[in-house]
Amino acid sequence: MAPELPLLRDRLIRWANQNSGSDNLTGLAAMLGLLEADFAALPGVTVVRAACVHTTAQALRVSYRPEAPRQVLLCGHYDTVYGAGHSFQHCELVNDQTLRGPGVADMKGGLVVMLAALSAYLAASPSDTLGFEVLLTPDEETGSFGSAGLLAESARRHQLGLVFEPARPNGNLVQSRKGTGNFTVTCRGRAGHAAKTPSDARNAIAALAEFLVAAHRLPAELPGTLLNIGLVRGGSEATNVVPDFAQALLDVRVTRAADREPVLARLAELAAAINTREGLKLELTGSFNRPPKECGPAEEAAFAVYQACGRELGLAPFSWVHAGGGSDGNLLSAAGLPNLDGLGVIGDHLHSDREFCALPSLVERAQLAARFLQTIAAGKVAGV
Ligand SMILES: [Zn+2]
Repeated sequence: MAPELPLLRDRLIRWANQNSGSDNLTGLAAMLGLLEADFAALPGVTVVRAACVHTTAQALRVSYRPEAPRQVLLCGHYDTVYGAGHSFQHCELVNDQTLRGPGVADMKGGLVVMLAALSAYLAASPSDTLGFEVLLTPDEETGSFGSAGLLAESARRHQLGLVFEPARPNGNLVQSRKGTGNFTVTCRGRAGHAAKTPSDARNAIAALAEFLVAAHRLPAELPGTLLNIGLVRGGSEATNVVPDFAQALLDVRVTRAADREPVLARLAELAAAINTREGLKLELTGSFNRPPKECGPAEEAAFAVYQACGRELGLAPFSWVHAGGGSDGNLLSAAGLPNLDGLGVIGDHLHSDREFCALPSLVERAQLAARFLQTIAAGKVAGV
């Protein structure tokens, strides 16, 4: 039974019009309520809320036949990057093919695809050999710190993960993802009067700037690495004071797990060069929160089947590509669960007020995921 576009479109509009910015606890609770009601309508499922750490926002777990021999985990996040105060709050139907709105691609559209796929799968006399769990989390956009434990726990009892993050604008899935890390660089110097000569003051901003200029060159030195200086602070409006404090926040990404060591070593070397100078102390804190999602043989085999399902349905051909952005697919990989990622809608301009999704992809990607579940149930996907 093919899902109907108007139904899926209207559900997506309803979900996307409910603000669920990662920091909007009230909005997240309201969104959780919408998801709980809609997922609970699937026949034969059990729905429970699960507590996260560091936040009162909850995750939702939907399970079906947990005793079946084949077990698949379907993952998605229901938070978005648009807070309650953001100007982008509502959907706009650009034309009958395109919906613009907050989270329509990343990834409430993906959640609509997931639900429609499960609904279609369950409506077609499902085999008792396949069970699944849906895990919907509230904090992916801020690093999944509160839900990482739930993801790891769920990963352990499944054989394959399906992540409904958006597909690429051309329809390609995601083959692998960079690992991501967040770091804070804190530089302490010595305050003094700007006019004093000779001066024993040490300018923390100038020293931090030296470090940052060198760190910014790191991607050129270490291929596969990305580094973004996201924020700099320090000093005061009293410009006659030599500032004794400056700080910067860095986003660092690596393609392979093995790339992490050289990046950290190089940053430590740059910090050490500043620290040899009297009166200055530069410290780097932070870590990689999501290891890279690397593609292994299990993913290769599952993707080949996914592509074949698309061909059987007569859908436009698609491939898969490496992505710089992390997702919970990274955490599933780290927990040892092979997974396919980018199974959600086709869309673009994520994290901006131009975010949109291609409406026909709601139906097509749902049919595709439903067909894939049937193929797993039939025992035709290696390892599941
Ligand atoms: Zn996302």
